[in-house]
Amino acid sequence: MTTSPPAGSPSRSDLIGALRWKKFPVLDDGFVTLVDVMGDDAAIVQAARVSYGEGTRQVSDDRQLIRYLLRHAHTTPFEMAEVKFLIRVPMDCWRQWIRHRTANVNEYSTRYSLAIDSMQSTEADAWRTQATSNRQGSDGRLPREAGSQLTHAETELHHRARAVYQQRLEAGVAREQARKDLPLSTYTEAYWKVDLHNLLHFLALRMDSHAQEEIRHYATTVGEQIVKPLFPLAWEAFLDYRVNAMRLTGLDQEVIQRLSSDHGAAGLPASHEAFMAAQHESWRRLDRCRERDECLAKLIQLGLVAPAAVSS
Ligand SMILES: Cc1cc2nc3c(=O)[nH]c(=O)nc-3n(C[C@H](O)[C@H](O)[C@H](O)COP(=O)(O)OP(=O)(O)OC[C@H]3O[C@@H](n4cnc5c(N)ncnc54)[C@H](O)[C@@H]3O)c2cc1C
Repeated sequence: MTTSPPAGSPSRSDLIGALRWKKFPVLDDGFVTLVDVMGDDAAIVQAARVSYGEGTRQVSDDRQLIRYLLRHAHTTPFEMAEVKFLIRVPMDCWRQWIRHRTANVNEYSTRYSLAIDSMQSTEADAWRTQATSNRQGSDGRLPREAGSQLTHAETELHHRARAVYQQRLEAGVAREQARKDLPLSTYTEAYWKVDLHNLLHFLALRMDSHAQEEIRHYATTVGEQIVKPLFPLAWEAFLDYRVNAMRLTGLDQEVIQRLSSDHGAAGLPASHEAFMAAQHESWRRLDRCRERDECLAKLIQLGLVAPAAVSS
């Protein structure tokens, strides 16, 4: 098998030994830790060869096979590997994380135990402003002076919330009820076990620029610190065919074909006006059109439309 490590690189067990229980810090008091892993790149290849047969061994090495599988969404071989993590994450971030239903979860119980005495705090220069283009997102930072006041108010709120929680416990209130006013910034911990296919799906969604910054930090840490060394071939293919890939819709392709036939001779990149002239018919009568904006961003990235078009 070509997936065995090259001479001089650490053995699989040394690699796993070095990674297991190592705390990779995230945010101000969070972390991700590898607890266990089953399978490696070779396990993906082994499973795929059951379905594709011995013939594949001659035509493709392991790397090529993994790349083929990922490119064509032949996903089940990636389910043969599993990874278990211990994570410490603020509850608002966990609320997004837990939406990924294809994992096995055990979370710290604040009915049974005292809530973790730690809340995620925001530095004075880390308050983000509301994005104007995307109602769900943020864009830019608040000035430091305004941020300092918010951070100060946040610290007060955290202390007050914890004091009220403590007061309820001391009065004999059950932990399950005493916790109800703890802020969403309170850290929780959970074991999270997931197969590699669903882990890559999680990473593709949560490393993406549309995901909230906090969960993006977690996903990037999981991906780069843990998945990359454990599954180097799958990781490489994932970056090439998911993270850095671009999907061109049927409408996008029509616009590109029109632009290149109208502007082939005049030369590309085309201007914003040329893009608007070549846009899809269904977008033409709309003042605002998210799909047109997305198409424009793709064409700028491909060098087919001039970047200045963004601000025009
Ligand atoms: C940027 C961003 C913004 C979001 N905004 C919102 C929001 O505003 N409101 C909101 O509620 N959610 C929001 N979500 C959550 C999102 O809708 C998904 O619930 C979440 O990303 C989990 O994705 P998933 O279902 O593909 O993953 P998983 O639950 O891990 O499932 C993986 C895949 O398994 C299959 N699957 C799993 N369970 C089922 C099932 N029961 N039936 C059929 N197929 C299944 C599906 O193919 C699915 O894609 C957002 C997510 C992102 C990344």
